[in-house]
Amino acid sequence: MITTLYKDFTFESAHRLPHVPAGHKCGRLHGHSFLVRLEVTGEVDPHTGWIMDFADLKAAFKPILNRLDHYYLNDIPGLENPTSEVLAQWIWQQLKPQLPLLSAVTVKETCTAGCVYRGQ
Ligand SMILES: [Zn+2]
Repeated sequence: MITTLYKDFTFESAHRLPHVPAGHKCGRLHGHSFLVRLEVTGEVDPHTGWIMDFADLKAAFKPILNRLDHYYLNDIPGLENPTSEVLAQWIWQQLKPQLPLLSAVTVKETCTAGCVYRGQ
């Protein structure tokens, strides 16, 4: 049986988008309460009944979360243009080596707007 687990994380960060047209509101410095949803997809172990321990998922993401929470995202190498799309791919690239079962990274910057990256 193959299933997908997910876990949500939140953090607060400031950013601005340097490549938007002049006057665009996203070009101004502002902040978001971001939500990141990490998904892992894999075979359910017949003995444990799970793909992996949620605690291991949390531990793998913690150092990455610590680099984002309450920082100015534009200062982080690779996030000079920190759109949700770029941020989702950046998180994937940081996390995938430690978490091979990672299958999707969702970044929401508001309650109604977000991006899903699946590694392509
Ligand atoms: Zn924004």
